[in-house]
Amino acid sequence: MREATATIDLSAIRRNLERVRAQAPGRRVLAVVKADGYGHGLERVAGALRDADAFGVAGIDDALRLREQEQQQGWAPKRIVLLSGFDEAADLKLLRELRLDSVIHDDSQLALLAADRGPRRHRLWLKLDTGMHRLGFAADRAGELLERVRALPTVDPQPVWMTHFASADVADSALTSAQVQRFQVALDGLPGERSLANSAALLSQPAAHADWVRPGGLLYGLSSFDGRTGPDLGFEPAMTLSSRLIAVKTVAAGERIGYGESFTCPDSLRIGIASIGYGDGYPRHASGTGACVLIDDTPCPLLGRVSMDLVCIDLSAVPAAQVGTAVLLWGPALPAETVAACASTISYELTCGITRRVRVREVGALAEVSPRVARA
Ligand SMILES: *Cc1c(COP(=O)(O)O)cnc(C)c1O
Repeated sequence: MREATATIDLSAIRRNLERVRAQAPGRRVLAVVKADGYGHGLERVAGALRDADAFGVAGIDDALRLREQEQQQGWAPKRIVLLSGFDEAADLKLLRELRLDSVIHDDSQLALLAADRGPRRHRLWLKLDTGMHRLGFAADRAGELLERVRALPTVDPQPVWMTHFASADVADSALTSAQVQRFQVALDGLPGERSLANSAALLSQPAAHADWVRPGGLLYGLSSFDGRTGPDLGFEPAMTLSSRLIAVKTVAAGERIGYGESFTCPDSLRIGIASIGYGDGYPRHASGTGACVLIDDTPCPLLGRVSMDLVCIDLSAVPAAQVGTAVLLWGPALPAETVAACASTISYELTCGITRRVRVREVGALAEVSPRVARA
């Protein structure tokens, strides 16, 4: 059987939430679980994050899955915020049925709300664009927006104000300071809770913690800071991607390895072939970059190209390795950020990109951890 396995440590996710709380004491935590919990599995991470104050998802489908899980488990309904908002009238019916909060960021949504009729008042998070120029209303419209929202009969009159940072992971970013400033100026004297901080700002902008912090990556032990891993930041990677060697051989000096003959053996080389590749979500862009895997805790370079089902590994440093030996692609001992840097991407993309054929194993379920961590 193919051994490509993602092991998800639920206790690491719980401890990461406690670390988030320690960074922002007294603030409420909207745990971002979009993109299937950054590839860790939506229901799985939602179970591990029962202590969060709310969940953030990108789409209504994910919110529906969370509500179904709550029903099945008999859990109290959690506040769920639709981070990308709604975009058609039928969505508003679902927001009501599923009791979802929604971000609004565009005038088209105000028009949909104006035409909406129904019993439950929608809870809105009004998103202001303070300089990222992706989603959000122009920040100087805050006062006008509040009046318009308050005139709508089916909307809760007190929205939460939010904005999103473009460069909170860049030290001393002038844009980040400008965004904080614009947000404060725009909302001066206006009532309502505020939310600005993603994971990077949770660590780098304590003055911007406000009422709600919105971490995603840190909950999974991932870092968005260039050159710094999750463990460097004091967080625990929750995903370990591993496989096994299915072949071991010696290749003569001058012979080439893999598709495109991109690696030439300088000397006779003992190599191993592991059953994992880009078809599992290991990045093909890591080919030829010096990217390593861990075998017996020893870094071993990849040789030649990453293929769909297989990678070739230099076993020079691990003479005891044989068919069946475990291969670690990323995890706490080899953070995904290190692999991502080789592949010119970020760790978030790697964990989100794990494919369906990878087997998932859970460890650290609630029953296995101490009562202190296991509080309801
Ligand atoms: C994804 C997202 C976050 C979380 O970002 P991280 O870098 O993973 O912490 C926070 N807020 C919004 C609006 C998002 O879309």
